[in-house]
Amino acid sequence: MTDVSLIDGKAIAADVRTEVASAVAELKSAHDYAPTLAVVLVGEDPASQVYVRNKHKFTRESGMRSLEHKFSEDVSEDSVVKLVRSLNADPAVDGILVQLPLPKHINTDRVIGEIDPAKDVDGLTEISAGRLSLGREGLRPCTPVGSVILAKKALDFHGESLSGKHCVIVGRSILVGKPAALLFLEENCTVTIAHSRTQDLAYVCRSADILVAAVGRPLMVKGDWIKNGAVVIDVGINRVPNTNPKAKRPTKLVGDVDFKAAKENALAITPVPGGVGPMTIACLLRNTVLAACARRDWDVPEVLL
Ligand code: NDP
Repeated sequence: MTDVSLIDGKAIAADVRTEVASAVAELKSAHDYAPTLAVVLVGEDPASQVYVRNKHKFTRESGMRSLEHKFSEDVSEDSVVKLVRSLNADPAVDGILVQLPLPKHINTDRVIGEIDPAKDVDGLTEISAGRLSLGREGLRPCTPVGSVILAKKALDFHGESLSGKHCVIVGRSILVGKPAALLFLEENCTVTIAHSRTQDLAYVCRSADILVAAVGRPLMVKGDWIKNGAVVIDVGINRVPNTNPKAKRPTKLVGDVDFKAAKENALAITPVPGGVGPMTIACLLRNTVLAACARRDWDVPEVLL
């Protein structure tokens, strides 16, 4: 029997990728053109390498072109900026993603700031952030968009919607917390943003109809912080030692939420892994198609609207 309290990010992301693939097929038949995503990776960070490999795989599977540009850890900031500028100037490139984090000697703000906002499929430039906060059209950050889609799907299943719900976001980063707050606000949620200085975080979390945890602290959100019937979106990805003596690997991934305990109270909850993570890539592919259409003034295929 299907567990209805589990929000299956893998399956929902697969649906989004199928929609993207059908949108790409439509663009190919209408314009004889396949959108192109360029990913820039600096250094050997194992997690980043896995993310970039998956992005490449899923981009190609959806029928788009995927370009990978790899630099060694000690590359100069100017070389990365030069590449971003050349990708900006290349008419065949629709989306540019610079995999974060960058090594410490590189100024991330400068590199991201160089990306043409029309190709900013990660939604991280000042222009994209400004458009989001002004409620204007633009490319939205992928993880927050994925979080909204998952919360919506979970509520849809129970015949409910986001409108009017109290959404508490724990975390206020530029990458996740802040844009997520604005996106849930666009969905007419009443939004509270909590962070490391929030007083009585447990009390604030207990008032959430939708709780989004984007902190980076393993299992920080306890089961009794979850209101009965709340939807829980766990963005956190934390690698911790695997204490199971039968485990094949010495470490495992957990979220920011104590999943087992929270599931007792939640209407629905995302697992880690297999929740928000897969949605991030699916939304990146979606953004690449949206960017390709916007740059060429083409209608966005209906399947993505
Ligand atoms: P950041 O470190 O940039 O931000 C963490 C936020 O959590 C900060 O706003 C911080 O508050 C807040 N915080 C830290 N400690 C506490 C605490 N004790 N109580 C309340 N709030 C606290 O992280 P990111 O936003 O980049 O990422 C968050 C998590 O999401 C990480 O685990 C990351 O790996 C994961 N992630 C997952 C993605 C996915 O695809 N699933 C994509 C991106 C990130 P303050 O501002 O006050 O310091």
